[in-house]
Amino acid sequence: MGKFPEADAEIINTWVCRRCKSRNKRGVEKCRKCGSKYLRPKNKEIKAKKA
Ligand SMILES: [Zn+2]
Repeated sequence: MGKFPEADAEIINTWVCRRCKSRNKRGVEKCRKCGSKYLRPKNKEIKAKKA
């Protein structure tokens, strides 16, 4: 977890499009911007950076 619990919650509820990098709400089927289905939870990106 990061220093700011509120920010963590926001990140957890955010999915990032792997194609256009736009942020989407968690649980959406596809990107609201480009329609891509390649979304990933944003918190995984942070874990990868830590590791
Ligand atoms: Zn997109």
